[in-house]
Amino acid sequence: MVYFCRTCLQCGKAINPDRLEILPETRLCRHCAEISGSDLIFPRKEIGMDLETYKDLLGAIRS
Ligand SMILES: [Zn+2]
Repeated sequence: MVYFCRTCLQCGKAINPDRLEILPETRLCRHCAEISGSDLIFPRKEIGMDLETYKDLLGAIRS
């Protein structure tokens, strides 16, 4: 499987593979996501919604 992005858009550092496994759609490293307070802090399983709903939510947040 090829991830569309393996480096953080903000700091350019590599994103932790464990984070990518949980959140393959993330574009921020954990550090930058926490600073920005953005969408990708919580693993899906903690949000309690299915993947498609989750992606819709992320789209709404980013738009
Ligand atoms: Zn970063």
